[in-house]
Amino acid sequence: VKRALTQRAPLTADERLIISSFDNNSISDWSYYYTHGLHVAGTNESQAQWTADRWSEAGIPSTRLDTYNVFLNYPINKSMIMTYANGSVFTPALVEDILPEDDTTSYPNRVPTFHGYSFSGAASGEFVYVGRGQQVDFDALGVELEGKIAISRYGGPFRGLKVRNAQSYGMIGAILFTDPADDGNVTVANGYAAYPDGPARNPTSVQRGSVQFLSTYPGDPTTPGYPSIGNDVVRADKSSVVPQIPSIPISQLDAEPILAALNGHGTPGRQVDRPTEDWVGGLNATYSTGPSTAVIDMSNYMQDNYTDIWNAIGVINGTSPDETVIIGNHYDAWIIGGAADPNSGSAVMIELGRALGRLLATGWQPRRNIVLCSWDAEEYGLVGSTEWVEQYIPWISGTVVSYLNIDGAASGPHPDISATPELHEISIEMMKKVMWMDMNQTMYDVWMDETEGEVGVLGSGSDYTAFLHNGIASIDMGAGGDPSEFRDPIYHYHSNYDSYHWMSTYGDPEFLAHKSMGQYLTLLAYHIASEPSLPLNVLNYADQMDIYYTDLQEVISTANRTIDTSELRQAIDTFRTQAQEAQALEQQAMSMGDEALLEVVNRKKRDFQRGFVSQGGLPGREFYKHVVFAPGLDTGYAPVTFPGITEQIEAGDFDLAEQWVERTAAAIRVAGDILKT
Ligand code: GLU
Ligand code: CA
Ligand code: ZN
Ligand code: ZN
Repeated sequence: VKRALTQRAPLTADERLIISSFDNNSISDWSYYYTHGLHVAGTNESQAQWTADRWSEAGIPSTRLDTYNVFLNYPINKSMIMTYANGSVFTPALVEDILPEDDTTSYPNRVPTFHGYSFSGAASGEFVYVGRGQQVDFDALGVELEGKIAISRYGGPFRGLKVRNAQSYGMIGAILFTDPADDGNVTVANGYAAYPDGPARNPTSVQRGSVQFLSTYPGDPTTPGYPSIGNDVVRADKSSVVPQIPSIPISQLDAEPILAALNGHGTPGRQVDRPTEDWVGGLNATYSTGPSTAVIDMSNYMQDNYTDIWNAIGVINGTSPDETVIIGNHYDAWIIGGAADPNSGSAVMIELGRALGRLLATGWQPRRNIVLCSWDAEEYGLVGSTEWVEQYIPWISGTVVSYLNIDGAASGPHPDISATPELHEISIEMMKKVMWMDMNQTMYDVWMDETEGEVGVLGSGSDYTAFLHNGIASIDMGAGGDPSEFRDPIYHYHSNYDSYHWMSTYGDPEFLAHKSMGQYLTLLAYHIASEPSLPLNVLNYADQMDIYYTDLQEVISTANRTIDTSELRQAIDTFRTQAQEAQALEQQAMSMGDEALLEVVNRKKRDFQRGFVSQGGLPGREFYKHVVFAPGLDTGYAPVTFPGITEQIEAGDFDLAEQWVERTAAAIRVAGDILKT
């Protein structure tokens, strides 16, 4: 049954001004700017300054750059050669074809294909195909791994964890490849032409990216928990969060002969505890485990640097100085382009600055401070945002009511959001005020049809992470393609082909997804910053925790154990009562127009989130402190709920899991006590 279309919700004058302020042609201009200059982390102060200048020009009252000195490494050179048992060789190209269309030919120093924070060194040996490279894959392999090179397929866990897992089994190098099976329907095999001639993947495309061990801690690997300010900051040992074996990313074209060299060696098409499609891909090979009889010699030489990075910051003071909304996007990219990741978001942030500037020009002042952030060095490991949070944590804990993140704003036409529970309601409501891509449909209708109204759970992989783990309500948003179901163009993630030309030809040709996402983000920020009663639905935290509680029972029964979770159950129930009390008080304050009482309730809503933060952090990872959400230890991107309990059960440490029932319950009680009246 098709849902009836929703009428656009009525707009106030301010909202109309925001909506009308967004122009897809200007957004295209901002996109063009960002995607025509090298802006790998730590290389482009001028882009940060340009962003700050555009915001100033738009009327944002105060702008500045915040600088940190961090560890980053850059590629010097690399090599790879495979020698078959009969002595013949295959030499992978290790480069992406340069296309004149992409307009990057005038940049002689185009960015090589490499892994950020990869180990500088060489490896030679036989190799083994390790599937997605998750723990479950390695566990089921049954092949000698020590001293071998891992060939792992992209997708699933964060790439750094694939390398970490290989290293932990005594493997000496890792090669990560893109598999055409992960492109869904839109493949050359299905008759689509490859980019630049069509929407399928260019077979030489390579996914660059960081191989930091994201689920341990993000930020500068040498300054865990404190800001990297100045040249004489104390540097910690980074070896627990960056690989100690070399790794290289390769294209599907380079991967095919390497995979095929495993045919007839080991178990073909091995199925582990996951769908077969996660193991067997679309290359002309049997996807056998190996080990190979062929040998790979690889080298990956990197230059270590302590270098400055620059965050652009813009501030609008609110009338209530103790409440702040932060909006952030990173601007660093792996390539000259970065039209989707991250500069679709960066272009939106310029237009957002202009919309807020126009509102300010009408005499509007938000109730709450609004801070705009353009982060550097997200790509190496959320470095700019994490260092910034580490620097300003007392002020952030004291005043921030929400962090709104936009990374890749548009690489296709399907909107998607993930958020902490108290933000769900306002995030969904705002979709009703935006028409999607100049069509006769609200963003809400499009989103409902495609997601069935499901707001995602935050794991990690973008700049909300340091905020979330200090107990800040957070949302992440973007519009993407879905080449399997909707036959949208393939998005060349972290490849040279994430270019302005790709975006303006295939990804979002009229920049209309950019425009709608920008209107949405700005309306959301405007409402959170200006509604008298802070629009955070605290009761939904109880509703969502009920769901996570049920999921936990599932985990416990799968583990075939009895674990007493009654304390957690009680804590959630008590939290629910306290959230209801806070809501009743809010209604009272609103109906009586009692500004002092309203402020009391607003402070409760701002502060209760901090209760979920557990001092000392989750087991073995001090950085990740939120007791309700964490990036999975072996997924990095995908979230785990009630992570202290869930992951200890999965690890078979039931005593620690029981301790974490107590600790999680205690944190929920702290949050509830802040809400109670
Ligand atoms: N968003 C980037 C990626 O997925 C960086 C994530 C990280 O290092 O935390 O590669
Ligand atoms: Ca740090
Ligand atoms: Zn990004
Ligand atoms: Zn990225």
